[in-house]
Amino acid sequence: MDSADVEPDLVNILFTEEQIQTKLRELAAKIEADYAGREILIVGILRGAVMVMADLARALNRHLEMDWMAVSSYGSGTKSSGVVRILKDLDTDITNRHVIVVDEIIDTGLTLSWLISNLASRNPASLEICTLLRKPEALQMDIAVKYVGWDIPNEFVVGYGLDYQEKYRNLRDIGTLAPHVYS
Ligand code: 5GP
Ligand code: MG
Repeated sequence: MDSADVEPDLVNILFTEEQIQTKLRELAAKIEADYAGREILIVGILRGAVMVMADLARALNRHLEMDWMAVSSYGSGTKSSGVVRILKDLDTDITNRHVIVVDEIIDTGLTLSWLISNLASRNPASLEICTLLRKPEALQMDIAVKYVGWDIPNEFVVGYGLDYQEKYRNLRDIGTLAPHVYS
């Protein structure tokens, strides 16, 4: 759906569909250059990273493999709990593989730092992170994020895979949710 379909629920549109696609093509070009001659496995974190994975994978003009993990951290609220559970593990053995974890947003970074140490213990050949969005708090965590789309202010955003109570994931743009929706 388009921003116009949920206009009263949004304070503003942060990034349009077009801006997102342009950014993903830029990130894909960097990844192509960095991984020339190496096989890559991109790992999407369900469910939020579905859109980023689909569009980033198609922006990459080379072969790759895709796998998925599902972890839970948030419950249904708008604050990170720091409690991480694996709901669905990888189907792939990542030993000696070049792995890029693809996420849609890093907020506190708690989820991802836990995930990265978990994946690192499986001895991949390399392990990097690609995220479309990153919030300021994430910078306090000691996670090296190689590919970042945009750093954004500390506001709750929805769209392009990002939900509020499972809604808005199918919004084409990314917007800031109006407080009246969740308060
Ligand atoms: P973290 O552990 O980095 O605090 O949060 C990770 C997860 O929280 C993200 O993958 C995402 O699912 C959710 N999250 C964090 N910030 C936002 C936000 O602004 N909007 C939405 N919809 N989800 C968020
Ligand atoms: Mg996520």
